[in-house]
Amino acid sequence: MPAADPLPAAAPRVLRVAVAAPLGELLDYLAPASGAVQPGTRVLVPLGRARRVGMVVAVDQPTALPAGRLKAVAAVLDEAPLLAPADLDFLLWAAQYYRGDPGEALFGALPVRLRRAQPLLDDRPLGWRALPGAAAGVDAGHPELRRAPRQRAVLALLGRTPQGLTDTALRSALGDCAAPLRALAGRGLVQRCRLDATAAAAPAAAAEPDPPPILNQHQAAAAAAVATDAGFGCFLLDGVTGSGKTEVYLRLIARVLDAGRQVLVLVPEIGLTPQLRNRFARRVSAPMAVLHSALADTERERAWRAAATGSARLLLGTRSAVFTPLPALGLVIVDEEHDLSLKQQEGFRYSARDLAVRRAQQADCPVVLGSATPSLETLHNARTGRYRHLLLPERAGRAVDPEILVADIRAQPLETGLSHALLTRMEREIDAGNQVLLFLNRRGFSPVLTCHDCGWISECSRCDARMTLHRGRALLVCHHCGLEHGQPVQCPYCTSPDLRPLGQGTERVEDTLRQRFPGLPLARIDRDSTRRRGELERLLAAAARGEQRILLGTQMLAKGHHLPGVTLVGILDLDHGLYGSDFRATERMAQLLVQVAGRAGRAERPGTVMLQTRHPQHPMLSLLLREGYGAFATAALAERLEANLPPFSHQAMLRADSPQEQAALDFLVQALAAARPLAPPEVEFWGPAPAQMERRAGRVRAQLLLQAPTRGLLQRVLAALLPVLRGLKAPRDLRWSLDVDPQESL
Ligand code: ADP
Ligand code: ZN
Ligand code: ZN
Repeated sequence: MPAADPLPAAAPRVLRVAVAAPLGELLDYLAPASGAVQPGTRVLVPLGRARRVGMVVAVDQPTALPAGRLKAVAAVLDEAPLLAPADLDFLLWAAQYYRGDPGEALFGALPVRLRRAQPLLDDRPLGWRALPGAAAGVDAGHPELRRAPRQRAVLALLGRTPQGLTDTALRSALGDCAAPLRALAGRGLVQRCRLDATAAAAPAAAAEPDPPPILNQHQAAAAAAVATDAGFGCFLLDGVTGSGKTEVYLRLIARVLDAGRQVLVLVPEIGLTPQLRNRFARRVSAPMAVLHSALADTERERAWRAAATGSARLLLGTRSAVFTPLPALGLVIVDEEHDLSLKQQEGFRYSARDLAVRRAQQADCPVVLGSATPSLETLHNARTGRYRHLLLPERAGRAVDPEILVADIRAQPLETGLSHALLTRMEREIDAGNQVLLFLNRRGFSPVLTCHDCGWISECSRCDARMTLHRGRALLVCHHCGLEHGQPVQCPYCTSPDLRPLGQGTERVEDTLRQRFPGLPLARIDRDSTRRRGELERLLAAAARGEQRILLGTQMLAKGHHLPGVTLVGILDLDHGLYGSDFRATERMAQLLVQVAGRAGRAERPGTVMLQTRHPQHPMLSLLLREGYGAFATAALAERLEANLPPFSHQAMLRADSPQEQAALDFLVQALAAARPLAPPEVEFWGPAPAQMERRAGRVRAQLLLQAPTRGLLQRVLAALLPVLRGLKAPRDLRWSLDVDPQESL
């Protein structure tokens, strides 16, 4: 060991490593003799008989293991750390808060190739550099170039640019110089090589960005309220659809980029990113990276690296982008903060919105949560003063609020779910040359197929659910487990040919509309019609240009798309949200309703929304329609307070499932018995109970809900409970998971 080493020669250097395997803990290893390894570096470590990739999270740790039992790191995989100490802190904090596995959390945050033992993708651009000394005194020093002015010019330019130049940069300075470069390379004066990312990031004078509009008074007040140079602060930008929230983001982004810092923008869904990305690209001239799950692995890795090295100044991404290293982070924005897709519901379960707040706190910068329909959690934080509440009460520009009409469809004849009132209204708008948007949150042709003779229904053999008829593909499909059967031509039970679809999905409504409006351009937008990559983008762009007259779709259509030609929004059915068994059902219904309604009349033309319902007198629905989302939220929060539900308490859901009938419940009974003594009396346990859909994909599911008055208490109980859960006896085929701050309580 070198003499400067601060440790006594006898003390082995111990590395704490997060291994990419579900171990539930960090492991200690001996550092390689060959020298220092910094935190954030990947290593290969022995684990049992295998070798695994791990990440060093701390060095020179005291270890509980005797020196003889420590195994040595087998190899160091990176020359320099992939993650900075702040990134490690954040990821390990997230793993701890959500009671996830540290290794899974850390490696889940890396681009796919880096989760394996593969080296960083060399994405530095190719270019040319003068060899050392070659360019010195170009004219005097190289008599052989006397009659080659092009080569002299190229060499002189490279001599002045020691970091090198890309082909593009050379071409824009000197025109095509492929031949002189070849000649110079032949003389050993220049070299083709990889250039530093900074040399490449210098953009070739991007097109002038669009000029920003003048903010209205509310927007200006909101933008002024967010101090971008005063450290951490959390802001709720609560603005009706079309009120110009995005303009406020753009203003803040410009300010932060000008100050030389980076910006992270999180959006719920990929479908939202094309429009938003284009809008950002037109307005922001700084280099931008985009991260979402539809990218190829190498594209993701490139975007991740651009953010991590600082060459990208703005990162726009879906939920997992919250984990991307951003060394100069100066602002975090979460658009549509209420959206459920910001919550990861499988594997390492986390809320990207809540983590965004933590991330901003760690980076000591502001975070802005934007929505037209804020979640009750966030509204509560704003109303109790923990977040600053910024309101944009009016639509920006010239658009006016849509008018909402209620179509009471009790005892009304419906044509494939469409009431006479809605059809009449549609005809009127179509005749006037406008676009109509119809919302039905159910894809497929019909949610069930039944036998008219014996009453057979198309049940899934693996779930407590019906199989949906997809007539276009002639299939019965279970939307819960993915099971598919060919569409039967006769009843599997009594062989009667009289099989009938019951109810309707978007495919069936499309059929009806095509018959009713023959030749009228219509687009159905749901997961089935947009399976092909780029299809959603294409359909939405065509819709925005006004090429379709009717847009029919599921909640894919409800999200922030800008569809200026839509003057009528028809909502076919939201009633299930009024009486859902999840306590968040009405909140979700209200958000969906307001979001869909927000698609109407976003430009000069005023809009109308027609809501079909069998419960026009439902108190929460009528409150929402009469007084708006804010009043609805006040009443809904009062109900939550009364029932002691979140945000007035804090929950964690323990779920278990197994192919065997009783196993999940048995496990949770044990879990409850173990947990009770660990928790003070104010912690409540609900269950164990069968899940709402007890059987799914052939597994029987159960759940146990923990509820505590404070986050801190809940965390303490979970910390004590987790090791106990890991030690419980359970059959091999039982799986369990813990969901902290669950968004679905079913
Ligand atoms: P939101 O994000 O709240 O839905 P946007 O920022 O998309 O709202 O704005 C809605 C529409 O109004 C967009 O077409 C936008 O260009 C326009 N807009 C926003 N702010 C202004 C403004 N201050 N002046 C004129 N038009 C504006
Ligand atoms: Zn039958
Ligand atoms: Zn199924």
